[in-house]
Amino acid sequence: MVKTAWLSKKLTSGKVLCQACSQSCKLDEDEYGICGARKVADGELKLLVYGRSAAVSIDPVEKKPLFHFLPESSAFSVGTVGCNFSCKFCQNYDISQYPKEHNHEIVGQKLPPERIVELAIENGCQSIAYTYNEPIIFFEYTFDTAKLAHEKGLKNIYVTSGYETHKAIDLLAPYIDGMNIDIKAFTDKFYKEICGARLKPVLEAVKYAHKKGIWLEVTTLLIPGKNDSDEEIRNIAKFIAELDPSIPWHLSAFYPTYKMLDVPPTPGSTLRRAYKIGREEGLKYLYVGNIDDDDHTSTYCPKCGKRVIDRRGRIGQYVTNELDENGTCPHCDSELEGVWH
Ligand code: SF4
Repeated sequence: MVKTAWLSKKLTSGKVLCQACSQSCKLDEDEYGICGARKVADGELKLLVYGRSAAVSIDPVEKKPLFHFLPESSAFSVGTVGCNFSCKFCQNYDISQYPKEHNHEIVGQKLPPERIVELAIENGCQSIAYTYNEPIIFFEYTFDTAKLAHEKGLKNIYVTSGYETHKAIDLLAPYIDGMNIDIKAFTDKFYKEICGARLKPVLEAVKYAHKKGIWLEVTTLLIPGKNDSDEEIRNIAKFIAELDPSIPWHLSAFYPTYKMLDVPPTPGSTLRRAYKIGREEGLKYLYVGNIDDDDHTSTYCPKCGKRVIDRRGRIGQYVTNELDENGTCPHCDSELEGVWH
C-alpha cells in the first residue's frame, strides 16, 4: 500500500523535503529518498511500505534489547524493507538494503495497522516493537499503529539508530513508550565511512527523546579495531552518564557479516572492559549482549547490589524478575528506573 508521507514539506524550489529523519532528503518528482521507502509522486511524498511488513515475529522484549521495560513480556515485532543507514555490519541487510539492491522494489506481506494490533493481542503481547529495519523511515505506518495500540492498552517500542528529527520525536512521544537507540560509535568518521550517516544528529535525538520523557536504553555494538578503544568507549559512557546515569547501556558483541567479513568477532573481554568503564563513569545499569555471560546480563540493585532480575540462557529464555510493579527492590526497598507495568 502506498500512502502520503505527511511528515514532509513542499519547498518553494518545487522539491519536497522529508522531515522524518536527519538525512533531510530534498526530492524532485519521481526521486527516491536515501532509505528507498519514500518517494515523490504527483508532487507529494509517498510512503511506499505502508501496511507492508517484510519481517514479523513475536520476540521476548529482552531481545530488542529492552531490559527495564515489562520484563518477561512479548513484543509483537514488525519491520519493512529499506533503511536510512547503510551499515557495513548490518545483521538485517537482506531487508534493510533490499530496495537499494533491487532497483527500488518493495516487498512484504500486507499487514495494516489494525491487523498488527489484533495479532499482538491474540498472541498475548504487551507491546508492539517497530524494529528489524529503521522505523523512522516508515514513520506514518508506525504512528497509525502506535495510536491504535495505545487505544487497546498496548505499549509501543522503537528500536532505532537515532536519526529521528525533533519534529518526528514530538509526534511520536505521546505514543512511543520505550526506545532502544544505537550509539554505534563516538566519531563522525565511523558514522560516515561505515554507516553513511553522522554522529551529531544521533546524539541530539538521544537527548531530545530523553527530554520528551520516552524510556530510553542505548546499545553499542563493539567492533574490534573500529570503535572499541578505551577512549571511545569512555566517551560514549560519559555522554550517557551526563544525560542520565540510569539509562541502561547494552554492550553487544559483533560477528562478521554483510560487508564486514574481514573483522574478527568481539571477544568477551572487550565487553567486560567496556562494562567496567561504564561503571567507572557512573552508569547504574550495564549489560553485555550476543555472548553467554549470565552475570553481566542480569540486573543488580544500584543501592544494595543484590541481583533483582536474573537472566539466563539465550536472550529472553529464562528471566526471573523479583521487582514489584513499581520496580521496587525486595531487599532494600529502593526503586529501580524503568517501565515496569
Ligand atoms: S526517511 Fe528516507 S526519505 Fe526521509 S529523510 Fe530519511 S532517508 Fe530521506
